[in-house]
Amino acid sequence: MSDAHKVIIIGTGPAGYTAAVYAARANLKPLIFAGAEPGGQLTLTTHVENYPGFPEGILGPELMEAMRKQAERFGAKLIYDAVTKVNFMVHPFEMLVGKDKYTSDTVIISTGASAQLIGLESERQLLGHGVCTCATCDGAFFRNQDVMVVGGGDTAMEDSTFITKYARSVTVVHRRDRLRASKVMQERALKNPKIQFIWNSVVEDIHDPEKGTVTGVTLRDVNTGRRQEVSTSGVFVAIGHKPNTEIFKGQLDLDEQGYIRHHKRTMTNIDGVFAAGDVVDHDYRQAITAAGMGCQAAMDVEKYLEAKGH
Ligand code: NAP
Repeated sequence: MSDAHKVIIIGTGPAGYTAAVYAARANLKPLIFAGAEPGGQLTLTTHVENYPGFPEGILGPELMEAMRKQAERFGAKLIYDAVTKVNFMVHPFEMLVGKDKYTSDTVIISTGASAQLIGLESERQLLGHGVCTCATCDGAFFRNQDVMVVGGGDTAMEDSTFITKYARSVTVVHRRDRLRASKVMQERALKNPKIQFIWNSVVEDIHDPEKGTVTGVTLRDVNTGRRQEVSTSGVFVAIGHKPNTEIFKGQLDLDEQGYIRHHKRTMTNIDGVFAAGDVVDHDYRQAITAAGMGCQAAMDVEKYLEAKGH
């Protein structure tokens, strides 16, 4: 089977859906592939209080559902599958979904980034229910509570410092006795009286999935093997992100961390292939910034197609 399109959007986070709304309203009849995590990272969170237009906040999955409906209302067609292979060396560009081939004059990549997780079953069960991966998004829910941050990099230090605005105390759990974070970020966290550190330790379990909320963790000292139970109301996992760019390697220009580089406005190194959202951006990582970039990419696609006489 082969199917030809003017624009294909890969990924359905805020960037992909916003690109779809704009492309559909421009009459480009976009086709969107939902990807491995339909709705993206927001489907892993609960309350979103910083997306403009929702004075009382909105649940992450509800926000993504609303974006999906808005894109479909204007004629975007959604396929609940993940693109497994791309060929940007031919034009129109080719995308494979299993054995099915789709071709398109332009592509917008909005496959996002995934937060790295520790890999515990209890962590998975409590994600969005006390286990969080975004301090800017969820820090304010822990007013006057004791929370934990896992990791020793810049994100862990930045998150810990940010969360002290709300929380009573923050305990950083790091697997070594030395931080990876830059000196300035380390110093800021080490000096903060609300932040304490537990060194050489890993989280072995998070309690209590049966209660549907975080009540504490089991930590293991990696040197002595000694275990300890520590009470906490929240666990922020800050051990890095991974951009979802595996299938583009060797074709698109990626930075050292694997994020896509823009070359001209939202266009990549390949003429006609655009990228938007967290797959490009490792600094802001917000739903609203991803949505903004999705809008820009769709407008760039429209101009590009016009210039090519489509
Ligand atoms: P990162 O630098 O890769 O640090 C990840 C941290 O998590 C490390 O301390 C690592 O421990 C730990 N870790 C990794 N896997 C783990 C696991 N399975 N269990 C327990 N701990 C684990 O990631 P990041 O902090 O997200 O930063 C990513 C990039 O963004 C960096 O280049 C950073 O400088 C940049 N960034 C900059 C700023 C800023 O300048 N404002 C803010 C945030 C991020 P080890 O140290 O033992 O490896």
